[in-house]
Amino acid sequence: MTSLQIGVILRHFALCAVLFGAAPVLFICARAEEARPMDKIVKSDEEWRRILTPEQYRVMRQGGTECAFTGRYYAHKGQGTYHCAGCGAALFRSDDKFESGTGWPSFFRPVSEDALEQREDTSHGMRRIEVRCRRCDAHLGHVFPDGPRPTGLRYCINSVALSFRPDEASKKEP
Ligand SMILES: [Zn+2]
Repeated sequence: MTSLQIGVILRHFALCAVLFGAAPVLFICARAEEARPMDKIVKSDEEWRRILTPEQYRVMRQGGTECAFTGRYYAHKGQGTYHCAGCGAALFRSDDKFESGTGWPSFFRPVSEDALEQREDTSHGMRRIEVRCRRCDAHLGHVFPDGPRPTGLRYCINSVALSFRPDEASKKEP
């Protein structure tokens, strides 16, 4: 065996050691990724235009509002979770939805404390609190202090920014 052949074998051995050593590290990294669902999702304007429908883009990336009583979820019933239509993050539970009569899906609390981000919005001559998806920064709607108990809050959300996923037990419902 020449020294060249020995060198090749050693290099192969080293490469295998690196690959096998990296596997558990990659696995751990993947698990850590799963465990942090609120990691920011950042996409270019062009990417969002490609992913979203024109109406979703207008509402979610440009802060627009869908016309009242036109969205698919304002009168929607069914057990499940409303996710962000842009990034899939869980935002609201059907148990926290209520009939506000406004023509937009309304909730009295988000699915978790860190699902949403709030910002002051002074557009259109009004002082409102804008609600955004914390994960992808999409505009969702506004929150008002005239909701029902127990929170007294009304999260007024555009249907077009949501994607409903029924719970396993109630998947047959529309
Ligand atoms: Zn999102």
